[in-house]
Amino acid sequence: MKMLTAIIFRSPSQDPRKHELEEGIFAALAREPDVVSAAMPHLYDLGEADAAMAPLRSVTGPLLVLAWLYPRAIHWTLDRLGIKGQCGETQLHRVDVTADSQKETLKGGASAPARNIWSLDLRDGDNVAMHVEEIQRILREIRAVPLAAQDGSLSPSPLPIPHPTSNAQTPPLHRWYPVIDYGRCNQCMECLDFCLFGVYDVDDDGHVVVESPDNCKKGCPACSRVCPENAIIFPMHRTPSIAGAPGARLDVQKLDLSELFGAPTAVKLAADERNAALVGDGRKAVADPQHRDDKETKPKDNLDKLMDALDDAKL
Ligand code: SF4
Ligand code: SF4
Repeated sequence: MKMLTAIIFRSPSQDPRKHELEEGIFAALAREPDVVSAAMPHLYDLGEADAAMAPLRSVTGPLLVLAWLYPRAIHWTLDRLGIKGQCGETQLHRVDVTADSQKETLKGGASAPARNIWSLDLRDGDNVAMHVEEIQRILREIRAVPLAAQDGSLSPSPLPIPHPTSNAQTPPLHRWYPVIDYGRCNQCMECLDFCLFGVYDVDDDGHVVVESPDNCKKGCPACSRVCPENAIIFPMHRTPSIAGAPGARLDVQKLDLSELFGAPTAVKLAADERNAALVGDGRKAVADPQHRDDKETKPKDNLDKLMDALDDAKL
């Protein structure tokens, strides 16, 4: 009986070291009698209508996902594709993640089924053994739960998805779109108002959704900077806090501190990025009334107030 379905989502990169790691883990998974495994193209590039998604959606039992993305990005990208579950805790973390951020646990969506989904970032360990050790720990965790208590413990028979070395698949187009972390989103609708490209919409239940992901402008992460909950992830952005790294709020603090030295605030940066996308699209940039350089409209800081007081004192 197969207890776990494991999927390796391949890297979009041509780096042979990455493919070697994928191959090594895939071979180790094939030796595990309790695991049914498959490999698929880069997770973020897949669409809801992609044929490869249907067999994956039919898996109702415990799921292990390995991809070249932060676990939070993996979890909410899967959620977007209709693959839902609770976040299984993992013990494999990259060494540059701070102790505090490791404590952050992912939340499952309110409507997510009880089955666990473990998301492993393939960048967290540079050798096959580290990942295999974590997979075996997860298997021990699953075996420790009585079968009757597991939700959908049986996976369907082997998934009709090609092995990583197969050339049968044409790589999909590299995509760029926001992914919402519904564990954090407070439905404030700031993103809906801010994006001028019609990426967001509201569903029948009144929840903000990424309705037209491919309207998003490549390289633009603007709305992630205006989201008050850091709930918007751009999984392929080079800045870890935007790409879904644990402890993502740290960078926001850094940006606010930079204000002291005259650097742009996160909101100003977001407005500039949105304007660059608008101009790139042949449209007019939008003036941001909150961030005009006009001295008359800029709120007075303490130094301005002190200078005013000195002027008034006519010293
Ligand atoms: S701005 Fe952030 S918190 Fe507000 S609705 Fe959008 S994703 Fe949710
Ligand atoms: S990054 Fe820019 S274009 Fe993309 S959804 Fe956000 S605001 Fe819209």
